[in-house]
Amino acid sequence: MTATLPEHEIRGLRPVELADRLLDIKRIYHEPGIQRFDRGRAVLDRFSDAERIEVASHQAIPGLYGNEGNVGDWVRIKRETLVLGEKKSLSARRNERSSDWIAPSTANGCAMACSYCYVPRRKGYANPITVFANIDKIAGYLERHAARQGVKPGPNQCDPVDWVYDIGENSDCSVDAMVSDNVRDLVDLFARIPNAKASFATKFVNRDLLGYDPRGGTRVRFSLMPQETSRLVDIRTSKAADRIAALDDFVEAGFEVHLNFSPVIVYEGWQNDWAKLLEQVADGTNERTKRQLAAEIIFLTHNEGLHEVNLGWHPKAEELLWRPDLQQLKRSESGQWNVRYKSPWKGRWVQELTDLLAVKLPTCRVRYAF
Ligand code: SF4
Repeated sequence: MTATLPEHEIRGLRPVELADRLLDIKRIYHEPGIQRFDRGRAVLDRFSDAERIEVASHQAIPGLYGNEGNVGDWVRIKRETLVLGEKKSLSARRNERSSDWIAPSTANGCAMACSYCYVPRRKGYANPITVFANIDKIAGYLERHAARQGVKPGPNQCDPVDWVYDIGENSDCSVDAMVSDNVRDLVDLFARIPNAKASFATKFVNRDLLGYDPRGGTRVRFSLMPQETSRLVDIRTSKAADRIAALDDFVEAGFEVHLNFSPVIVYEGWQNDWAKLLEQVADGTNERTKRQLAAEIIFLTHNEGLHEVNLGWHPKAEELLWRPDLQQLKRSESGQWNVRYKSPWKGRWVQELTDLLAVKLPTCRVRYAF
């Protein structure tokens, strides 16, 4: 493994500079006949200078996935490579935390490189963006699925009125929107579905989304953590200050805007940094934004395999993320062994942050915290 994370990937970039650096597509792996989809042709046209390489399946691309040894390579792959395929099996999965349902993906993978990210744990570390070209079929499926649900029987932590569909479980929709119009199509779809809304978490400010017409049908959950921590672990993302500066604009454009405090990372003095962050949000938002804010709070989980990989390229972040003195093993729903903060400390910390939020941003309700 090599320690190759360039300083400019850590220090944080201005929005325009960051957008330029995130993607410079040089090659597109695509499934046979992908041009039969309008969206397939549109992506190929958008990156018309890119080399095209036909592959049997978007899931098995020799030499692309499983490259966990060299971040220089995997960041380069994220920047330069796209995969274009068809989403074959469509199903909405039940969820009860941030959304009622996880929508079938219209993309997976990510051009950013947060060191705690669970997505590459599943997919092999390169994990560039895969775009699914059969957006019409996916959108049709979602529209019928929402119609079958009827009126939501009552409020829950996801939403008081609407069924909520997470459209960005395995990608960041703000970056996906730089690659194709899939996100715009979903925003348009949920603008007209009467009983449901889309929702996605993001660490990137893409101001092109301000030109969409969501009419309240899409919830954007801006992820936030104190800037000094974010600078170390949220690699290639928008600065916390830029995300905060976008909140009012997204509300103004017709999005519902929530906050995703995730992951919350514990270290000496973390409460002070969170107090400052919440003050920044309070100072940086108008009353209209504040009134509609809600937050989800998720304390860090980490994983030994990911820790070992990260030590090879970004050991400084691991000083924050890997804290055996504070963490204990926990088996995830998928059977994987992860670590999380020890109980009963974690319960106390969750309460501390929730209390802090009630003081600093009293109109921001907590959807859930754990
Ligand atoms: S932005 Fe989200 S999906 Fe992308 S690397 Fe970070 S945590 Fe993972």
